[in-house]
Amino acid sequence: MAELPAAVTEAAALLRARRTSAVELARAAIDLARRDPWNAWLAVSEAEALAQAKAADERIARGDAPPLCGVPWACKDIIGTKGVETTAGSRILDGYIPPYSATAVERLDREGAVMIGKTNLDEFAMGSSNENSAFGAVRNPWDRSRVPGGSSGGSAVAVAAGQALFSLGTDTGGSIRQPAALSGIAGMKPTYGRVSRYGVIAFASSLDQVGPFARSVRDIALVCQALFGHDPCDATTMPLPPEDLLRDLDRGVRGMRLGVPKEYFVKGIEPGVEKAVRDAIRELEGQGALIEEVSLPSTDFALGVYYLIQPAEASANLARYDGVRYGLRVEGADLLDTYRRTRGAGFGAEVKRRMILGTYALSTGYYDAYYVKAQKVRTLIKAEFESVFERVDALITPTSPTVAFRIGAKADDPLAMYLNDVFTLPANIAGLPGISIPCGLSEGLPVGLQVIAGYWQEATMLRVANAYERATAHHRLRPPQQKAA
Ligand code: GLN
Repeated sequence: MAELPAAVTEAAALLRARRTSAVELARAAIDLARRDPWNAWLAVSEAEALAQAKAADERIARGDAPPLCGVPWACKDIIGTKGVETTAGSRILDGYIPPYSATAVERLDREGAVMIGKTNLDEFAMGSSNENSAFGAVRNPWDRSRVPGGSSGGSAVAVAAGQALFSLGTDTGGSIRQPAALSGIAGMKPTYGRVSRYGVIAFASSLDQVGPFARSVRDIALVCQALFGHDPCDATTMPLPPEDLLRDLDRGVRGMRLGVPKEYFVKGIEPGVEKAVRDAIRELEGQGALIEEVSLPSTDFALGVYYLIQPAEASANLARYDGVRYGLRVEGADLLDTYRRTRGAGFGAEVKRRMILGTYALSTGYYDAYYVKAQKVRTLIKAEFESVFERVDALITPTSPTVAFRIGAKADDPLAMYLNDVFTLPANIAGLPGISIPCGLSEGLPVGLQVIAGYWQEATMLRVANAYERATAHHRLRPPQQKAA
């Protein structure tokens, strides 16, 4: 079976030198996706991929191809793709074929990137392990008895297992960064408002952002370059002038001020994870960064705030799946009964739990006590980050308190599962950009290092991440079982 090149940059160079073609890369990726032993893919869109690849080859031959032209990628199945079934990992969207593509997908189409298919995820992106998918759990290529993280587990594994050169995920509370960490690759969530959510199935609208997975920080920057920008179809995107994210990538961290929030090194963090992250901080210090301990005292409340605001928004967003407009319909005695049966059969247990939580938090009498209070604490969390970013250029933290856990280990304990995101969800609550990159192994499993920067400071964040990556070899490690599969 043909292997793909190791990185986007490498594929781009091979394509330009005519040592491979987009069609050849697409065929290899399609073959790898079809034989996928990790359950990472929900659909392979072969005909569409080959048509895109053919067009990419023509463009490369003309000599005016952008960097992502001809590069095979994988799309989380919560992002709408014209003519290609989009399920959000749920039975309730069975057979739903979007009439248009999300803006993020259109932007990649415009670059000539080649979408190979759609990847598995927790239903409606609700989860941290990919076990909540209606189409089965995704396995971690580092150890198939373990989860790859979630909710964008399929997109993380497609890249970690070398089936695609980059992928898109969505991150509402950590769903790009946490699976990137647990699968040993890079994954980043942009500032809220950087990337259009138009055409992305809504989970919690004030928290959701689309972002890339890849094997290097440079690849992440290349994909961001295509994704970022104002979209008239999404009023929450910011009309900022285009920025060159590659320009300062190699400038290093000498003289930069990096904050280490003490609240991120507390209870529950595995010793092997803490050690890898502390070593990474020392590496950055060795490169001339000024390391400073900082405090974000409201960190402890982030989980509580998230589990009020996110289910509240989800309960409103998911009201539209009623058996009339999209996907599944289970006929009942009357309209109300049809709604009831459709939603009862179509949604999984975790999605129902979130809608019940959210409806409760929004109901009369509880709205002020829970929802409004959560919004106030959200403002506090945001203000704390803002004041810290007056002093430091970026924050360095672990991405997840643990390495990949065993499938089933937390499935019956939603609170233990929710705790997985303690270090990622504050950035969503505040709307800040964050990236996770590999920083070593603990017990043979990947550990993620998180870099969080101020609003719209993705260039700074990527520069810090790249400085670390250049000095270390962790991002080159490959899952040991990949060969055997
Ligand atoms: N694990 C978190 C949740 O279950 C975050 C999910 C996400 O970012 N989509 O809500």
